[in-house]
Amino acid sequence: MSGACGNARLIGKPGELAFYMATAQPLEQPPVVLAPAGKANVVLLGAGFAGLEAAKKLAGQADVHLTIIDRRNYHLFQPLLYQVATAGLDSSSIAAPIRAQFERAPNVEVHLADVDAIDADRKIIQSGPRRVAFDYLIVATGATHNYFGHPEWEAYAPGLKTLEQAVEIRRRILVAFERAENEPDEALRTAYLTFVIVGGGPTGVELAGAIADIGRTVLTRDFRRIDPASARVLLCQSPPRILPQFEDRLAAKAARALAQLGVEVMTSTRVQHVDADGVVTNGTRIAAKTVLWAAGVTSSALGKQLGVTVDHAGRVPVSPDLSLPGHPNVFVVGDLARVELPSGGLAPGLAAVAMQEGRTAAHNILASVRGRERNPFHYHDKGMLATIGKHRAVAQLKHVRMCGYIAWWLWLFVHLLFLVGVRNRIRVFRDWSWSYLFSKRGSRLITSCEWRLEA
Ligand SMILES: Cc1cc2nc3c(=O)[nH]c(=O)nc-3n(C[C@H](O)[C@H](O)[C@H](O)COP(=O)(O)OP(=O)(O)OC[C@H]3O[C@@H](n4cnc5c(N)ncnc54)[C@H](O)[C@@H]3O)c2cc1C
Repeated sequence: MSGACGNARLIGKPGELAFYMATAQPLEQPPVVLAPAGKANVVLLGAGFAGLEAAKKLAGQADVHLTIIDRRNYHLFQPLLYQVATAGLDSSSIAAPIRAQFERAPNVEVHLADVDAIDADRKIIQSGPRRVAFDYLIVATGATHNYFGHPEWEAYAPGLKTLEQAVEIRRRILVAFERAENEPDEALRTAYLTFVIVGGGPTGVELAGAIADIGRTVLTRDFRRIDPASARVLLCQSPPRILPQFEDRLAAKAARALAQLGVEVMTSTRVQHVDADGVVTNGTRIAAKTVLWAAGVTSSALGKQLGVTVDHAGRVPVSPDLSLPGHPNVFVVGDLARVELPSGGLAPGLAAVAMQEGRTAAHNILASVRGRERNPFHYHDKGMLATIGKHRAVAQLKHVRMCGYIAWWLWLFVHLLFLVGVRNRIRVFRDWSWSYLFSKRGSRLITSCEWRLEA
C-alpha cells in the first residue's frame, strides 16, 4: 500500500478498508482512497433495494471502482420479514450475503461498517475514526421506525425492520401462547392471548392476518389448556381506514377479509400509550402482552448530515436526476430520498421505487464519468400488493384491481421473483408449499433460553 498526503491517492486493494478500520486513523490524516488511479471512485452506502440495484449496474464497468459499505453483511428482503416474525420462514431464507452477489465483479469491494457521517463538500464519509474519500457517492441507507415522539414505546412494541426484530417478534408471539397455557389467572391468560398491532398499512395488515392464521389453523391441536383460536388480534389504525395507500374499494375488501379471519379492525383508533401490560387507545385500556409496531417510518439519520433541509419524515429532497442539490456527485436514493414526481406527488416508499432509483443513480454516475448527459428519474408504477392471511391478497396494479385468491397467487409469484438468491427462492417455495398443504409453519422454535425473558 502506498502512503499519501495532500492530493495524492492511497492506492487501495480489496480488503484495505478493513485494514484501515482495524488500525486507528487519526482524524486529520488524509482519507483512504480505495479506487485505483484512473478509475472513478464510487462509494455506495447501504445495500438494500436501492443500493443493490445501483451496485449491479456499476459491477463490471471497467472505468469505475465501487466500494459498498453496509452495517450488515447481507441484503434483506424486507417484504417477507413478517413471515419470519410469524414463524413461516427462517431468517436465512430472506437474506443474502452482499459479498456473494459480487464475487465475479473484480471492480466491486464490500465492507462491513457503520457509517456515522458524510461530508459532501469534502467528499469524505466517516466510519468511527476512519475516513474514506469518494468521487461519487450513493446514499441508500433507508428508513427506520418512528414512534412519534415516544421512543420508550419501542421496548414494549417492537417494530419490524430488521431480522433481529423479526426474530424477537416471533419469540414474543410464541412465548405468549406458551405462557397462556401455564397461566391460571383468567385475566392474565386473556392478556397473553391478546395481540395488538399498531398501524394498518401493508405490514400491519400482513402481521395481523398471519397471527390470526397461527391461532386458528397452525396451533389448534398443539395446546391442551388453551384454545389458540380464541386469541384476539386487534389492528389499530388511527386514520378512518386501513391500507391508506390503496383505493377505498380494495381497502374495504381487505378489512372484510381480515374480519373473516377473526381480526378486530379498529379504525379511527389512536394509540395514546404503550406499556408492558398493553395499550391505551381513545382513552380505553386494552390488556395485551404482545404489542407490535407497524406505524410510521423516519428516514436514516445520515440524511440530516447532507446539508439540506429534510422533510417531516427525514427524507432528503433531491434533484430530478436524484443528485443532492448543490452536490451533483452525491446521489440519494430509496426510502431516504424525497423524490417529487413530474405527475405530482412523491415517489412512495416501496422496494420497486428504490430499485428504479438505484438504477437511475448508477446510470447517471456512468453518464458523468463518460461525459454523457444524465437522465431524470422516471417512475414506472408497477402497483402494490398486500397479502391477508393464507389465501387472500389485494392487488392494485396499473390497469387492474384484484382481491382474493388470484391476487394472492400474484403476490406469491412476485415475491419469489424478486427474492435475492436461487437458494432462497427454492427454500421459500418449499416452505410455502408445506405450509399451504399442511397448514403448518416450520419455524416455531423458541431458541436458547429466550422464553425466560418477559414476553
Ligand atoms: C416489514 C416491511 C415490509 C415491506 N413490504 C413491502 C412490500 O411488500 N412491497 C414493497 O414494495 N415495499 C415493501 N417495504 C418497503 C421496502 O422494503 C423499502 O421501500 C425498501 O427496503 C427501501 O429500500 P432502501 O434501499 O432505501 O433501504 P433498505 O432496503 O432499508 O436498505 C438500507 C440499507 O442501508 C444499511 N444501512 C443503514 N444505515 C446504515 C449506516 N449508518 N451505515 C451502514 N449501512 C447502513 C442497512 O443495513 C440496509 O442494508 C416493506 C418494508 C418493511 C419494513
